Amino acid sequence: MDKSKNTYPDLLSMIGNTPLVKANHLDTGVCELYLKMESMNPGGSIKDRIGLSMIQDAEAKGLIKPGDTLIEATAGNTGLGLALVAALKGYKMMLVIPDKMSQEKISHLTAMGVEIIMTRSDVGKGHPEYYQDLAAKIAEERPNTFYINQFQNQANPLAHETSTGPEIFDQTDGEVDAVVCGVGSGGTISGLAHYFQKVKPDVEMVLADPEGSILADYIHKGSYGEAGSWFVEGIGEDFIPDIADLSNVKKAYTVSDKDSLLTARELLLKEGILAGSSSGTIVTAALRYCREQTTPKKVVAFVCDSGSKYFSKMFNDHWMEDQGFIERETYHDLRDVVSRFYTKRE
Ligand code: PMP
Repeated sequence: MDKSKNTYPDLLSMIGNTPLVKANHLDTGVCELYLKMESMNPGGSIKDRIGLSMIQDAEAKGLIKPGDTLIEATAGNTGLGLALVAALKGYKMMLVIPDKMSQEKISHLTAMGVEIIMTRSDVGKGHPEYYQDLAAKIAEERPNTFYINQFQNQANPLAHETSTGPEIFDQTDGEVDAVVCGVGSGGTISGLAHYFQKVKPDVEMVLADPEGSILADYIHKGSYGEAGSWFVEGIGEDFIPDIADLSNVKKAYTVSDKDSLLTARELLLKEGILAGSSSGTIVTAALRYCREQTTPKKVVAFVCDSGSKYFSKMFNDHWMEDQGFIERETYHDLRDVVSRFYTKRE
């Protein structure tokens, strides 16, 4: 079958090869900003790539067989990617999810027949109700289960080293100067850093980190304190995941929830791109990076998932007002709020 004709033998072969689109209406200073549309993967996020690679890897190593239950700790998107691949390959799926994640993701997973264990968002590593520790414990106790563990699974960064990285290089004709990523498991940034180290080592790897996460401190100071909490889903950490190789990441931006969510709203209003909350953080950091440059650069940032998963939250003006991100007198006209916000900031 001929992929160049947009015809595919199955849904799994539609994962990856996502479009790269230029942002033409945001203030990018002397730079050009391109957005990698990972929201256009069949499961709707960047995590489809690792859903496929981690299951294929476990199969190749003889660790799983159809009928087994795959268990994962996830903010939702890895679960969706895994559930898609599991459904097509005949595995059952159980997910341990922190309770701050959006209802849209939970509804989607439930509709896919996934068994969901909801656990606390407000506890850290080492606590028995921490989502990763709980997933590991359930996998240990139940027969015919396999803990995927994206935080330690090398098939995670490898998916980005072998697919996302080469796609970006090819789509920019090798002219990319900087790549801006968030870190959840660290798979994306580590895989891309390894790839660009081989083909174009001067590509700058830039981290976009939610306020409250420890990662930006770790990059700038080499140490970190206690993590806070944040609304943005899927990125930011309270520890350094084993697979996260941040040694090539020299620049990091800390982004508030308010900036992240309003940037995601601005992205829809100005570019027509319906992006999720982590994309708001990443695009905010990318815009700051772009505006700091004095020579023109080609910058690539990620739209990790679609805003359709967040209609009940950041695309709901009442929710935005309840959280203090917009004010009541103006919420009927968010366009005005967004533009005032940006005018104030510049
Ligand atoms: N954005 C979203 C919406 C995500 O769900 C994730 C993964 N948790 C990421 C970004 C971060 O990707 P990675 O795990 O590769 O660091």
